[in-house]
Amino acid sequence: MIQDRKKSGFPAGLQLALAFIGVAPLALPAQAATDVARDVWPVLLRRDLARVGHVEWRLRRAAGAACPVQAPDVGVVLDDRGAYQKRDWPLLAATVKMDEHPAVASVAPGSPADLAGVRAGDEVLALDGVSAETIIARRPAGTVVADALLDEIARTAPDKAVVFDLRRAGAVLQFSVVPVRHCAVRLVLFTDRSIEAHSDTRNVAISTGMLAFARTDDELALAAGHEIAHVINGDRRGAPAKVRRGMEDAADALGLRLMECAGYVRATGITLFERLGSRDWLGFLRARTHRSWKDRTQSLRALPPATACPVAAP
Ligand SMILES: [Zn+2]
Repeated sequence: MIQDRKKSGFPAGLQLALAFIGVAPLALPAQAATDVARDVWPVLLRRDLARVGHVEWRLRRAAGAACPVQAPDVGVVLDDRGAYQKRDWPLLAATVKMDEHPAVASVAPGSPADLAGVRAGDEVLALDGVSAETIIARRPAGTVVADALLDEIARTAPDKAVVFDLRRAGAVLQFSVVPVRHCAVRLVLFTDRSIEAHSDTRNVAISTGMLAFARTDDELALAAGHEIAHVINGDRRGAPAKVRRGMEDAADALGLRLMECAGYVRATGITLFERLGSRDWLGFLRARTHRSWKDRTQSLRALPPATACPVAAP
């Protein structure tokens, strides 16, 4: 877990975005809506989802078969208005053109979806001939639409293509995408101003505060890699402090290997820990599970470069 006790400094745009959540939808005439389209929260959120999606794709490739579970993946982030309050739907339609169908929020560069021609903004009509409505209707209770669609892709048989029926600018297009099988861990973005990343036994959660704080994708990949390392190592919370400390050190080391295997740069990633350390004025209250940011930074600098990629199973 990577956590900062102080609240993050948010860029003005995102602060504005968060202020919009939970208030009435913007009643703007069409022209005005176009003018503000670059600053409104759905657009900023799409940018954040894409950033996390790209880092996720590369880290999952790097983790390969080391993760406890592998799954077919095509490298897309999906979104659906059902995950938002109904009063936000007109704004979502006006800004990111997301209407009644689920949408492709981002496509990771170099992923199977990218190479097949799938593009951000495409509306998802069907997967493998099964309509999005059908997949949505039969999903388990409590599952968000985007996850239900990704789960559908993750159930694809090995070496079998997934056929995407998509709508783009009014035209219905069909793409055949052959998934790759790699680490099943997903990075989930949650809206919170705290600078935080944590994991359960399956997935990793990253706060919007962490995204705003991470100056580069190298920094973001270090934080996300640390959490994927916890999943790979099967770490659980509630272990005694001394054991927990060993887990954190191991997650730092494996996380660094993952981010380097994924093509991110150590020197510009480690600055995340340095900058967190410079904010950590309550460090003397820190739980004994974590060493100081300074110690952790020094250890990471001293590690030899990753040699085997994807990383081997522990
Ligand atoms: Zn940790």
